[in-house]
Amino acid sequence: MAIGIATSISNLHNSLPHHVVTKLKVKMFVSEASVVFLNNIMDQVFLKPDCSFYLGGRILDYVTEVFLYYNFSIKQFIESLKFCLIEHFYRKPLNCICVAHESAQEALFNSLDKKTLEEITKLRSTNYKLKIDSNFKENFLRLIRELKACINDFYIGLRVLHILVADLPHSPLGTKLREMYCTAMKKHIIDDTSYKTCLQLLKFLSKDDLLAKFDKIIHVLKNVKNNQRTKDALKIVQSYVKSLEESHLNNLVIEKEKPKEKPKESLQAISRSQFKKKLMENVKNEDNQPMTEFEKARSETLDNFTEIILRQFLVPPTTMPLNELLIFDDLPSIKRKIVGEDRAAQYTAFINPQHYLCCDCCELEFTEQIFKTMPDISIVYKLHLESRFDQINIYDWLQKFISIVGPSQNDNDNDDDIDPVLQSRFVRALNELQHLGYIRPSKYKADHVQRLTCGSC
Ligand SMILES: [Zn+2]
Repeated sequence: MAIGIATSISNLHNSLPHHVVTKLKVKMFVSEASVVFLNNIMDQVFLKPDCSFYLGGRILDYVTEVFLYYNFSIKQFIESLKFCLIEHFYRKPLNCICVAHESAQEALFNSLDKKTLEEITKLRSTNYKLKIDSNFKENFLRLIRELKACINDFYIGLRVLHILVADLPHSPLGTKLREMYCTAMKKHIIDDTSYKTCLQLLKFLSKDDLLAKFDKIIHVLKNVKNNQRTKDALKIVQSYVKSLEESHLNNLVIEKEKPKEKPKESLQAISRSQFKKKLMENVKNEDNQPMTEFEKARSETLDNFTEIILRQFLVPPTTMPLNELLIFDDLPSIKRKIVGEDRAAQYTAFINPQHYLCCDCCELEFTEQIFKTMPDISIVYKLHLESRFDQINIYDWLQKFISIVGPSQNDNDNDDDIDPVLQSRFVRALNELQHLGYIRPSKYKADHVQRLTCGSC
């Protein structure tokens, strides 16, 4: 029996003769793109209120960026999240208390030592208002409860927002829940210019589309249990739906104060700035044109919905006191550990190999110095930095290399003969540099290579 997996059926036909393929039992299966898995993990696991590990916007932005632009690896993505988890909870009793069950919090708090308690008062989010006094424990636990309630509401608000804006043209706030999460965690998303664009686009929706969206929103709100704010919001949204349903599509609304209609002036033969001004005025005049009942209801509903519902549900938890204890957003601490700064480490190794080798022979006085005793790749790298051009002549490079590592030239008799040992050392170093992505064969000149980096970047 033989088992194998091929990415496409044609591979099978190409690699095996026909009579073999006909005797094989071939099964086709399709795996989803890894981005789909990423979105599912975020939506189903992390961006749910019952998940007690909360990622900050900057961290989530960073790990998804690594995923989307570097490796597409779900495995590494999960590893990164696990790392964040460890970083957040390991040896941090305060952070652990926050996620513990409410019944256990008090006992855990009592076990804290004085130093840890002082840490709480120094947290920047508390604004130095939390003092160690007789009510300290109650205040702390109350703030944690409030923070958790805020996060809960935030998630509800996020799902409501997602329904509202995910399918808008050009999706100004993104199409995925995680994209909105990242923006909304950093600042109040309602004040973001992208949301304002969304609001303008929403005001073009047809009655059916808008009602369909509100229908889904009501569904989300109904599914939330034990939340007074959601119950109130549900009633308000239901009243919006009612007024939208009752509004007539054709009836014009008679404005009480009708603005004076200015005749539209000709836009020709004026300067650019005047033209812009006139254009704005004309747009304003158009805005003042009478609206239908539905248009008026739509505009008012969306404005009210934004200000009354979204504004209170989408308060960024990162603005709440004690948020550092619950939300992990320490980007600098994980950045280096998750991705690693390969280039920087390589640069140091090339420029100053003594840093790693700890030898006595290569001690630098200034960074440009090159010693015979340095590793070949280090010498070759340093020489290539001296080139002022992108295209480097290999033969010149080799000559420079030999002038450093070769025997000191007392006689110039065999100038043209190159020691094959030195040449092969040079070629090996060159290959290593190419393998590491610093150079590549030139497209234009056969005896040249192209430099791909500049200095330390
Ligand atoms: Zn050395």
